[in-house]
Amino acid sequence: MAHEPERVLLKNTGLRTFVPFGARKLGKDFVVVAGPCSVEDASSYLETARALRAAGVDGLRGGVFKPRTSPYDFQGLGREGLKILAAAREETGLPVVTEIMDPRDVDLGCEYADMIQIGSRNMQNFPLLKEVGGIRKPVLLKRGMQATLAEWLNAAEYILAGGNGQVVLCERGIRTFESSTRFSLDLSIVPAARELTHLPLIVDPSHGTGRASLVEPMCLAAVAAGANGLLIEVHPRPAEALTDRLQQVPLNCFPRLIDRIRRTVALVESFAQDPAEPRLP
Ligand code: PEP
Ligand code: MN
Repeated sequence: MAHEPERVLLKNTGLRTFVPFGARKLGKDFVVVAGPCSVEDASSYLETARALRAAGVDGLRGGVFKPRTSPYDFQGLGREGLKILAAAREETGLPVVTEIMDPRDVDLGCEYADMIQIGSRNMQNFPLLKEVGGIRKPVLLKRGMQATLAEWLNAAEYILAGGNGQVVLCERGIRTFESSTRFSLDLSIVPAARELTHLPLIVDPSHGTGRASLVEPMCLAAVAAGANGLLIEVHPRPAEALTDRLQQVPLNCFPRLIDRIRRTVALVESFAQDPAEPRLP
């Protein structure tokens, strides 16, 4: 059997870690984060941010450094995009999360964003993990699309070992033989991870399925599986989006989606508080 190195920090101690994000605490409050895949321009981002705020989201997303398969595709607005995120936060009062890919951009990201996202393709970028281990901002660590639970938790351990305890895990789908969806959203990892860690865990059904029509059912299923929040891609005009066109929920459909999410959260919380609930050993 392969030797499993001991994790010093990342054990399930029975106590849960709460990670602050704006007015909410991830791990305690159910947190809905939404926004377009990429920040494309100021006016459409602000239009989206205002509507999401009105719909009752807890935080905003938007990529400005994009990990694209082709070097000729839109790479993101970089620093200009960070300024747009900061303007949206200023106007809405909502915290923002954005992906950083290069260790040299971590300080820049921290200047503008409330949470730094490590993308699936960088889950084992060890210099980047070490860099964000040294900051004092929350980190959203997406699961590598080919990573096992042990590899994912060890990546989180790198950040914790660097002294940054504010880590949120994010399941975003894994590669399987199934080709009708972009990835296979692995919802069984949610309770499995929660047995082993004290960190909050959210689910990204947008990348996990790659199809806007599958986002709502997977959001509700993620709530039932015990997720602490959701990361959802929303765009005012998905057909015109510069990235991930097929999976972004149209902005005008979002109020119905968040209403159904909130109602499912309330239902699941009512189960969790039932003291008569029998539990498996
Ligand atoms: C994203 O959130 O836009 C993204 C690129 O996600 P992932 O790293 O999960 O593919
Ligand atoms: Mn995307």
